[in-house]
Amino acid sequence: MSRVFSGIQPSGNLTLGNYLGAIKNWVPMQDNNNCLFCIVDLHAITIPQDPGLLRQATREAVASLIASGINPKKSTLFIQSQVSAHSELSWILSCFTPLGWLNRMTQFKDKAGKNREQACLGLYAYPVLMAADVLIYKATHVPVGEDQKQHLELTRDIAGAFNRYFNVDHFPLPEPLIQGPAPRVMSLRDGTRKMSKSDPSDFSRIHLLDDAETIALKIRKAKTDPNPLPYDVKELENRPEAQNLVTIYGALANKTVPDVLKDFAEAPFSIFKPALTELIVSVLNPIREDILRLLKDPHMLDLCLREGKEQAQEISEKNLSEIQELVGFLKN
Ligand code: ATP
Ligand code: MG
Repeated sequence: MSRVFSGIQPSGNLTLGNYLGAIKNWVPMQDNNNCLFCIVDLHAITIPQDPGLLRQATREAVASLIASGINPKKSTLFIQSQVSAHSELSWILSCFTPLGWLNRMTQFKDKAGKNREQACLGLYAYPVLMAADVLIYKATHVPVGEDQKQHLELTRDIAGAFNRYFNVDHFPLPEPLIQGPAPRVMSLRDGTRKMSKSDPSDFSRIHLLDDAETIALKIRKAKTDPNPLPYDVKELENRPEAQNLVTIYGALANKTVPDVLKDFAEAPFSIFKPALTELIVSVLNPIREDILRLLKDPHMLDLCLREGKEQAQEISEKNLSEIQELVGFLKN
C-alpha cells in the first residue's frame, strides 16, 4: 500500500483552485492508500497572519476537507504544528540543502515580491519544511497542484542528498502526482497568474464558502476578452482567461475541453458565464452547507483532530528517532 501525504495552508478560505488541483484528487485515493492530509499552519505563518483569523481558518480548512470528502476514519487528518517532528526534521534537512537549490525556487520569488531583503527566513526555507512534511512519513506519493512541482523535485533532491551522505536508503524518493483536468486553476482577474488564497483581490478566486450570489458576481466580473468561445481548442491558446473558465467548466462537469467547446460553440460570455455560475454553485453549494454544519460542532472536529495527531505522532516519532540515530545525536 502506498503512503500518500499532502497539505494545505490555512492562509485563508480554501478556493476552487485548491479543490480542483488538490482535494478532489485526494478523495478517491483514500480507498487504496495509506493517506495523511495535513493543515500546514507552520507554512501559513511564512506570511503574516492574525492569530484569531489563523485559528478560524485552520478550523475552516479541516471542515472544508471533511465536507469535500476526506474521511477521518480512512485518512489521518491533522494539524502540522501539533506534530513537532515536522519542525525537527526540517532543521536537520536544512543542513543538507545547499542555498543554491533554494535560490531557484519560483514560489519564494513570487511571494517575496520586489522587496526580497525584507522577506523572512521562513518564507525562504518553506520548501525545506515541505520536504520534512513528506519525508517524516516516508511518503511515496504526493498529490498536489502544478505549482508545487518544483518544491517536490527539491524534496526528492534533499532526500537523495541525505541518503547519499549516510549511504542509506532511508527516504523513498516521493513521486509528485499532478492530476485531474485542472492542475493549475488561474486567477479570475489575470489568466497568467494562478488562483491563490493569499491573492489580495477577493475577486481573483472562488471560495468554497462563497454563496450563490457571490459566485455569480465573481464570475460576472471575471476578466475575459470580447470574442465568443471558439469551436477549436487551438484557438483558446492565446486567450488565458477564456481557457481558464472553459477548463474550470470541464473539470466540474467531468467533460473534456473540446466537449465543452462543442456544447458552447461560438457562444458569447453572456451565455457561457451564467452556465458556468450555475455549474459552480451546483457543485460547491452542498460542500458549503456541509462546512457550515461541521463548524457548528467544534467538539467533533477537535475529537477527529486529536485522533489524527496521535496517528501522525506515532509514525513521525519513530522515523525521527531513526533519523537522529543516523545523524549521530546522543540518546540516553
Ligand atoms: P497561498 O496563496 O497561501 O499559497 P494556495 O491557494 O496556493 O494558498 P496552498 O495551501 O499553498 O494554497 O496549496 C494547497 C494545495 O492546493 C497544493 O497542492 C497546491 O498545489 C494546490 N493549489 C493551490 N492553488 C492552486 C491552483 N490555482 N490550481 C490548482 N491547484 C492549486
Ligand atoms: Mg500556495
